[in-house]
Amino acid sequence: MNKNNNFSPSAITRFAPSPTGYLHLGHAYSAMFAERAARKTGGRFFLRIEDIDQERCKQRFESAIYEDLEWLGLTWSGAPLRQSERSRNYREALDHLVKQDLVYPCFCSRKEIRAELKGIVNAPHGPDGYHYPGTCRKLGKRQQQLNISNGEPYALRLNSERAGLIAGPLKFFDVTNGYTTVNPSISGDIVLGRKEMHASYHLAVTIDDAAQGINLVTRGEDLMPACHIQRLLQELLGLPETSYHHHRIIKDHTGRRLAKRNKSKTLRSLRHEGFTPECVSKKIGLNFPHGTP
Ligand code: GLU
Repeated sequence: MNKNNNFSPSAITRFAPSPTGYLHLGHAYSAMFAERAARKTGGRFFLRIEDIDQERCKQRFESAIYEDLEWLGLTWSGAPLRQSERSRNYREALDHLVKQDLVYPCFCSRKEIRAELKGIVNAPHGPDGYHYPGTCRKLGKRQQQLNISNGEPYALRLNSERAGLIAGPLKFFDVTNGYTTVNPSISGDIVLGRKEMHASYHLAVTIDDAAQGINLVTRGEDLMPACHIQRLLQELLGLPETSYHHHRIIKDHTGRRLAKRNKSKTLRSLRHEGFTPECVSKKIGLNFPHGTP
């Protein structure tokens, strides 16, 4: 394991979009930022399609990702890694965590969780909202087995307290912010997998960064809190440590962050309006084609 957080000279980076809509300027910035970090250091740049949520992901958006990135002049190493093809890897990792008693089945519905939280004064919360109150953590093994054999749907949750104890004290390194101490309970007992979806975002990202040999994770600064959980999972799964470089978020003229749900202008609509990749780079404050991030 790379215990030396001073990130090695050749950056292996990735861009990891979810094909749930067309790419916008924020994605262009992220992708170019990652590609440049790799190119500047003689490293490699990979692409990953984060399509575990098969209900929301669409093939047409995936095809558009390739098209838009190529239009921007970006090339990536090897074939893109598609998360929808990696359930076996996620399952194996979850089995490993189950064996170490680090996850437990949770049978609560969203409604039940909401009701339970209502009754708690000062319920703990973190960057993703209120924490799961831990109801099913207290279930005995017999009850768990009984519920499972009765066909009750369940999610697998990380026992964050135990995970913190097993992993011991950890830190993660971000190029801009330096070292941060990991808080294993920052988001409480998060869901790591479900029956119909073998991996949550955190689990899939952690496993796939290792599979692609990523040593520098670059992404928007809004994802900084995710490092706490991903660094913890790296440790629990015996995966190499990554460094991070969180970048600024591209906002629109009203100061609102760009997002698919805000109907932000897509790269393809800009293209159809006659914008060139040079104009796009300029718009997001990057030199084209060989500037520095
Ligand atoms: N798929 C995530 C997104 O589109 C990226 C996650 C990451 O870079 O860790 O926001």
